[in-house]
Amino acid sequence: MLLTIVANLFGQNHQTGNALQEQQKSIIAIAALTAQGNLGALKTALAKGLDTGLTVLKIRECLVHTYAYCGFPRSIRGLQTFMEVLEDRKLRGIRDSIGPDADPIQQRGSKYERGKKILNELTKAPQDRPLTGYSVFAPVIDTFLKEHLFADIFERNILSYAERELVTISVLSAIGRAEPMLRSHFSICLNVGLTPNALYEFVDVIHITLGEKEAENAKTVLNELLGSNQTTTKPYQTVASEIFHKGEKVASNHFTGTVWLHMLVHTDTIFNTNAGNVTFEPGARTHWHAHPGGQILLVTNGKGRYQELGKPVMEIRKGDIIKCEPGVVHWHGAAPDSELTHIAIGVQQEKGAVKWLEPVTDKEYRQ
Ligand code: MN
Repeated sequence: MLLTIVANLFGQNHQTGNALQEQQKSIIAIAALTAQGNLGALKTALAKGLDTGLTVLKIRECLVHTYAYCGFPRSIRGLQTFMEVLEDRKLRGIRDSIGPDADPIQQRGSKYERGKKILNELTKAPQDRPLTGYSVFAPVIDTFLKEHLFADIFERNILSYAERELVTISVLSAIGRAEPMLRSHFSICLNVGLTPNALYEFVDVIHITLGEKEAENAKTVLNELLGSNQTTTKPYQTVASEIFHKGEKVASNHFTGTVWLHMLVHTDTIFNTNAGNVTFEPGARTHWHAHPGGQILLVTNGKGRYQELGKPVMEIRKGDIIKCEPGVVHWHGAAPDSELTHIAIGVQQEKGAVKWLEPVTDKEYRQ
């Protein structure tokens, strides 16, 4: 294979430290589409979730969990859609893994107290203060919340707290106008092991799954919580993690748009390798070109595009690694709505300099 994209080089996404894994991204898409009742797109997301190795019972539990945040009707429509997807896959001979179910609940004692304890773990805030606000006005909903949601549901160990919280923030982002709850649950996400980077990647998945409006809203809440001053004009740019200097604007007519370069390694006769930190503004890209000795791209930030001649355009993002073989005609650059930074490693420089070709037209870029 000429092109190798290794998103998770070591099984986990070590490039970014703690970015989301494919199964987590699937959980987000499934929960968000269930909440909006977009059953057509949900079918695709469910199938993709199964393909990533999520078990039938884990997905079933995600759909059950949604009901606490968007109600029985959406949750049950989600479950019915899932049954259709499973039936269809069965007919096509796909054998999906059912997986283990939740263990029976062993806990004893007051369910209210158990729910309180779990809520305490999630929020890292003691729950023994006197009730305030809506809990005083409608004490019964406080009881339902603690006994049912945080005891009955959260005690089911088939999903981790982090997975349940991903379902929750997905539903809250999808239904909208629940900002205080979304903020609280973003905060819980941080307490159960998800990183700020992972939460910005969550916003990315919401953007791809639901659209710009939902992603903007979620990002605004997340920025407020994290005290980040990221502008909302570039909502899909992930958290900047600049390791190397951005360098200078490249004065070259082999690029479309603005590109910055900071050379990290100059070639020599021992290594025959150079390396540069390259940043493309949104929409910027190289012309078509080929490297006689080949090239390795390590994507360190943002989102972009990569294409080899005669093949489809591929989306690339932070953490992706691309090996472009010697002589293969290709181009690379940023996505229309995000910067892209990659480290470009030119190997086997003794084989000669880059062969530059035509610009990548807008039509080719937008494919
Ligand atoms: Mn190249």
